Amino acid sequence: MSTTEYRETVEIYSEISVDTNRIINDNETETRSNNSSLPQSFLNDFHELNIEDQRYTRYDDEVPSEIVTRNRTITNTSTPTGTIINHVTATAPSDTVTNNTHLSIGTSTIVPSATTDDARLRKREVIRRREKAILKTLANIERSMKVDLCYVLDCTGSMAGHIAAAKDCILQVTEYIKNTNPSIKINVGFCGYRDHCDNSLRLQNFDFTNSYEEFRRNIASVPATGGGDGPEDVLGGLHAAITQMSWNDGTRVLFHIGDYPPHGKRFTTMQDEYPDGDPNGLTAENVLQKMQSENIFYFFGKITNFTDTMIEVFRSIIGEFSIFELVGGDPIELINKFVAATTSSITMSVSLTSTIGTRRNLNSSTRRLEIDRNMPDWDTRPARKGVTLCYYIPENVEEIKNERFYDKRNLISKTFHFKIAEKPFAAGVEKYAYYAINTKYDPPRRIVMKEYLTDGTANPFEKYLESTEISALTSYLTIKFNSKARGKDIPFVNFLRVNLVRSTFDGRTRYYISEPELQDAEFKRFNVNSGVIVEFRPALEAFVHFTYEHTGGYLIVSDLQGIELPNQFLLTDPAIHCIDPVRFGKTNLGRNGINRCFLDSHRCNDVCRTLRLPSRE
Ligand SMILES: [Zn+2]
Repeated sequence: MSTTEYRETVEIYSEISVDTNRIINDNETETRSNNSSLPQSFLNDFHELNIEDQRYTRYDDEVPSEIVTRNRTITNTSTPTGTIINHVTATAPSDTVTNNTHLSIGTSTIVPSATTDDARLRKREVIRRREKAILKTLANIERSMKVDLCYVLDCTGSMAGHIAAAKDCILQVTEYIKNTNPSIKINVGFCGYRDHCDNSLRLQNFDFTNSYEEFRRNIASVPATGGGDGPEDVLGGLHAAITQMSWNDGTRVLFHIGDYPPHGKRFTTMQDEYPDGDPNGLTAENVLQKMQSENIFYFFGKITNFTDTMIEVFRSIIGEFSIFELVGGDPIELINKFVAATTSSITMSVSLTSTIGTRRNLNSSTRRLEIDRNMPDWDTRPARKGVTLCYYIPENVEEIKNERFYDKRNLISKTFHFKIAEKPFAAGVEKYAYYAINTKYDPPRRIVMKEYLTDGTANPFEKYLESTEISALTSYLTIKFNSKARGKDIPFVNFLRVNLVRSTFDGRTRYYISEPELQDAEFKRFNVNSGVIVEFRPALEAFVHFTYEHTGGYLIVSDLQGIELPNQFLLTDPAIHCIDPVRFGKTNLGRNGINRCFLDSHRCNDVCRTLRLPSRE
């Protein structure tokens, strides 16, 4: 495509998504002048930044070190407005399992001196170590694809429909997973519980099997019977599932379904044979903490409101977990609900297992900030002034591949007037997010400003610059994709355009990434860069495939997350796998990442075919 054609495409694209354009791109029209003068403050930053050296130094802690902590909290990290969910990063340690909590790891780094004259040697050494770290990460990802799924089901009198649904959903679940995530292999097991009065039928377990027929036969033999009073032996059922099933070393999923609470005044006011709680001494604490220490993800299928107090108690112990509404009635509908709940339990768990344990190690010198989820009263916040930077959108693949494209000649700078909340509303492993407003507009536009957590060792400017580089590059790819998709009944794919912000206040120079705030729709994670498809959308998988073909196999854009509108996706925080392993940070798993986290499991869908992407079957 010639430059002129390209410009036309950009124009067409701007026309067809005028409203969106405002959202995705606050940078008016970007025309290249190549003589935009950057403010002196940024020029000084550039002067102080030896970018090549920084881009190598950031991988210095990728040396494999043995691990460490096993304290996982099981929550699904999504925040309504922009996220800070982490990607898979190749940081070597493989069996650490934490989520939302920071590891305190004594990182022992064995790093050659950061100053060497021979840049080529340096690069070769960095690549060698990166490849080692990447292989470890990929091994971790592979292990996470082996799933043990255990249904823990109330099997008392009222539950016949749900027992049947658990039996009947399994083939649909495995078929769906096979089609969307062929790398995931599922073993399925079952733990039925009733009540203390049911004696030998109190618990009924079937260990994990990869034979779904055997699973179905087992469940078919389970009667819905007994139960006595209202509360059931919920804790006994969970405890049996945690301790008596043969859990493997991959992803562990426990899907609990029940209509009545455990025994004890703490859970219920209904008539209860055991108001003081479990007669065998089990408590919610000791059962659930055991579950956490075994790295088992917990999900609950809710049928009645009788379990609401139980949910509250459980959450106070293990934090947030997903709840699926599984109210009975029409059996087919119930099976569909089971299929949807089970598949998302599996994909959520695998995506977390495949990404945790590989996160950036943050040592104790990282400052931790208090979180405030409330929107501030903007009238009381001081007006700030700063400067923004973003790159021109590349015009062709050669510019994407050319690292030298991303230097100061191709940056656009603007003054920026804003207000920012005092405290972040969310914190991830890598970034804090703050509510903010762009006060240039009347009324002011809501934005999100993100700040990287730093331990003070690296020059943060480099990280912010790379975010804008990725933003420019993904904008180019979405323009190309959308121009191909236009008129073919395929939703557009867009990323929020981000800016680097530099501002000095309270005696300190700060950097931020700013982007428009995503509102009015549920924030979703569609796929992760370990290759797991959490929510299958043909257009998004075709987009990843498109990025591979369009760049001639140079890179893929993944970790697609954001909101889904009627005719388009608005995404944020992508990650890139690229054959040059020293670009795009630690989430880049290199050529191996492209192959094993995408090509090996991608099945071309209707959108791939409509766009005539080469078949990757
Ligand atoms: Zn495809």
